[in-house]
Amino acid sequence: MHHFKFRRNNLFCENVKIKDLAEKYNTPLYIYSAKTILDHFSKIETAFSAIKPLICYSAKANSNLAILKLLVDRGAGLDIVSGGELYRAKKIKCSPGKVVYASVGKTEQEIAEAINYGIKMFNVESVDELKRINEIAGALRKKVSAAIRINPDIDPKTHKYITTAKLETKFGIDIITARDIFLNRKVYPHLNIAGIHLHIGSQITQSAPFIRAITKIKHFIKGLERKKVNLKYLNIGGGLGIVYDKEKPQTVKDFASRVLPLLKEIGLKVILEPGRFIVGNAGILVAKVIYIKDTPVKKFIIVDAGMNDLIRPSLYDAYHKIIPLEKPSAISHQLSAIKMVDVVGPICETADFLGKSRRINVKQGDCLAVLGAGAYGFSMSSNYNSRPRAAEVLVKNNKSYLIRKRETYRDLVKREEIC
Ligand SMILES: *Cc1c(COP(=O)(O)O)cnc(C)c1O
Repeated sequence: MHHFKFRRNNLFCENVKIKDLAEKYNTPLYIYSAKTILDHFSKIETAFSAIKPLICYSAKANSNLAILKLLVDRGAGLDIVSGGELYRAKKIKCSPGKVVYASVGKTEQEIAEAINYGIKMFNVESVDELKRINEIAGALRKKVSAAIRINPDIDPKTHKYITTAKLETKFGIDIITARDIFLNRKVYPHLNIAGIHLHIGSQITQSAPFIRAITKIKHFIKGLERKKVNLKYLNIGGGLGIVYDKEKPQTVKDFASRVLPLLKEIGLKVILEPGRFIVGNAGILVAKVIYIKDTPVKKFIIVDAGMNDLIRPSLYDAYHKIIPLEKPSAISHQLSAIKMVDVVGPICETADFLGKSRRINVKQGDCLAVLGAGAYGFSMSSNYNSRPRAAEVLVKNNKSYLIRKRETYRDLVKREEIC
């Protein structure tokens, strides 16, 4: 469910006409719907209401302060993966007791800052890291909570770049080593190793991989209980898939009905880390057509947004629907009569495309909306080709708010020095 809909012939975000936003704020422009974000959060909350989990929104999906604040005010915690995201969490005054921190490469400084903020727990991804957090906690005279991120060695059946639960990936700790850690918890006197963390991948459309991973963990936890090692938390991560094209992802209600029996049987306090599910379909990227280039073999629509703005098509071969802001008239709507086009950006890379082989009929100066761009869109954007990053707008209560100003050329060079 999202709030980007046509009214008569124009695309709207909630009650706001997108074309007006494109004119007011210029393009390329990210536009998010607060209502959609909150609806998605509520859906998760409702589906899991039987166990009242802590829902930590995964900040890396879209880390704009306004979006973090919107979710935190609604009751979410945050799942962070860097000192920069910790800084954002502090900036919006997220309760430290609702912050969990994963990443295979936390530095000493990042660890100390997170301990000083008093975060709920670290999701630890190696023995080296565990030792380091223990040392830093000792030096700071703090007792720090940690969960062990377990790599369950299952295949989540998603793109290989967003698979994190196979042993050949860098994530988590294998089950044998994890067992060792729990049985020897005493060697980490400054840690309270109280939980297990799982995050098996992203854009997972079926519940089977989750069930497989959680079932593995259930046996693991039962084994520990027999050894008198009792845990408090089970964090099952994020990864819920959304509709980009013709996927038929499980609904969160289906997902919950499948995993809830297992989670109840395990009986630990559950933490969830949804990212994409909450913001993915709550955002679009609006781009303007600069040129139309019809070559003997192919037709290109060249727009003012590129892979620096939205890298998912280039990086993951991801599909995003691309539609004009205005519905084409009935005659030109004979889509089958329209030549296939590639929608590409201005960047000097062949991989710079937003969509390939689409039937879209637009002219120079028209705007296109790239749908499903709310997650891993702006947050993965860069300044490649010295392109200022796009502006971001949040539509909330039918008003639009500029939540990130477009970067300027001055911004591009402001930290550089000529010597
Ligand atoms: C990226 C990430 C998530 C969120 O994943 P989505 O697929 O966006 O739900 C959750 N937990 C961890 C540890 C992550 O790295």
